[in-house]
Amino acid sequence: MTDPQWYSRYSRQLLVEDFDETHQQKLEQASVAVIGMGGLGCAAAMQLAACGTGTLSLIDPDSVDLSNLPRQHLYGEKDIGKAKVHCARARLKDNNARCDIDIFENCAEHENVKPVLERSDLILDCTDNVQARMYISSQARLLEKPLVSAAATGLQAHVIAFHWQQDACCYGCLHALDATPQSSCLSHGILGPVVAIAGLYQALIAINYLTHRHPIAWGSLMQFCGRTLTWKQLHLAQAPDCPVCQE
Ligand SMILES: [Zn+2]
Repeated sequence: MTDPQWYSRYSRQLLVEDFDETHQQKLEQASVAVIGMGGLGCAAAMQLAACGTGTLSLIDPDSVDLSNLPRQHLYGEKDIGKAKVHCARARLKDNNARCDIDIFENCAEHENVKPVLERSDLILDCTDNVQARMYISSQARLLEKPLVSAAATGLQAHVIAFHWQQDACCYGCLHALDATPQSSCLSHGILGPVVAIAGLYQALIAINYLTHRHPIAWGSLMQFCGRTLTWKQLHLAQAPDCPVCQE
């Protein structure tokens, strides 16, 4: 739909080089599954909804806690104790009612989640533990869906996009190489802007992929250091002892 309101809403991004009405319409036809509605998911989902992604499926079993508020900006004090996905949907719809938001109060491994991933064009892994990331990576590979995974702890964050093509690396390969942060937010803490940077990076990869504007650097690990404010890039190959690729 390209009424005056549509043009007005998206006028600034339609001025961006290489981003025209065709790209906006591609974004509006796209469906993205966001697994985990913590700091990563909040940052990524906010941008994807606001920029005009057609459908977002938000998946998270948790409720809002006071300790979430410094970095999970879709929630406020009035949301404490409520399901994250319900609060997130209300906030995202408030920004852009055109975006369809499906919500699932489930963990990644729940049987309800698989059909959601199956009908999505892209999966964003915004979870906070290795077990969920391994499972999501194996499902993405099985369902032949592209996956953008991120993690953040302390002052470190990383983002990597995976494709399911043969010989491509996966999250299991990354883990096998011991290239993932071993600490958790509980042991090393997390600073809001660091996790937001990683979530926003996921959203930008998603927009680039869904609008077919730029080639995606599949299997390229982007590591951010919040101390030096620098990024490092590392190209990953398939690990011979990866439990996911060898399934
Ligand atoms: Zn692998």
